[in-house]
Amino acid sequence: MILFLIVLLCLPLAAQDTPKRSVAFTYDDLPNGGAQMPLDQLTAMTTKLVDGLKQAKIPAIGFVNESKLEVEGERPQRIALLQQWLNAGFPLGNHTYSHPDINKVPMLSYQEDILKGEHVIGGLMKEHGQTLSWFRHPFTHTGNTEQARETLEGFLQRKGYRIAPFTVETSDYMFALIYRNALEKRDKAAADKIQKAYVDYSERMFTWFERLSQDNLGYELPQILLIHANQLNADALPALTAMLTRRGYSFISLEKAMKDEAYRRRDAYVGDNGPSWLHRWAIAANKPNRLRDEPDPPSWVIELYREQTK
Ligand SMILES: [Zn+2]
Repeated sequence: MILFLIVLLCLPLAAQDTPKRSVAFTYDDLPNGGAQMPLDQLTAMTTKLVDGLKQAKIPAIGFVNESKLEVEGERPQRIALLQQWLNAGFPLGNHTYSHPDINKVPMLSYQEDILKGEHVIGGLMKEHGQTLSWFRHPFTHTGNTEQARETLEGFLQRKGYRIAPFTVETSDYMFALIYRNALEKRDKAAADKIQKAYVDYSERMFTWFERLSQDNLGYELPQILLIHANQLNADALPALTAMLTRRGYSFISLEKAMKDEAYRRRDAYVGDNGPSWLHRWAIAANKPNRLRDEPDPPSWVIELYREQTK
């Protein structure tokens, strides 16, 4: 009887140890981030990633750069890869045609690039009974002057777009580049080491942003993870989701995450960077800007990345 009572008393405690958390997975730079992939590799990567997400019942969304479809003789096959996302139930969003930086190009050409970026995906979404509505800024740069920001926001609104924010990112493009090079050299030990470091660093970043949410909002909001469609994320998906499940995460759609009231807050950020919306709301509320306190990836990862992108 006493044992039974102890077990009973411990149960709620155990449940409390792991808070209920949620996260939406958003993938940028479809069909793939980084340098163009040969079609056979790209097809295998897409299939692995999309099937992995579907099997794990993770609702995802993919943000597309249609310029990456323009490979001579491969356009229909590359469009078919976007179809794979839709067939699995994942909507597509506009990430501009060619990934320009709003801080570096004239407003008009940026806007043209947005419109050029919806030709294929607009039609594909319609075929699947959906309306293209999500937009994510390349580099999540939203404008470095008040005027640029507002002009762009007005334009997106008139075109019927909703801006997709993010709260957690993991510098996955850095890990992904050195991972791909390790795979190309058939260095499995290095690839495994990079993959493990990536998942460990992702956990550090989630831990950090969970705390930032708690400090700034008083609770943990449904997080929105920004990562890229690449081989690393296809291969590391089971380890990444196992880590998140252990931390109490369930997986929800971007649409659902954004129902949380936090996302109704004003993003007042004007500047050259593309920080997490958790930073942006803090800036709007005159709270300390903790952008520089974010943990860095391991120094050996940064060094390898620098060496390999020289
Ligand atoms: Zn991007």
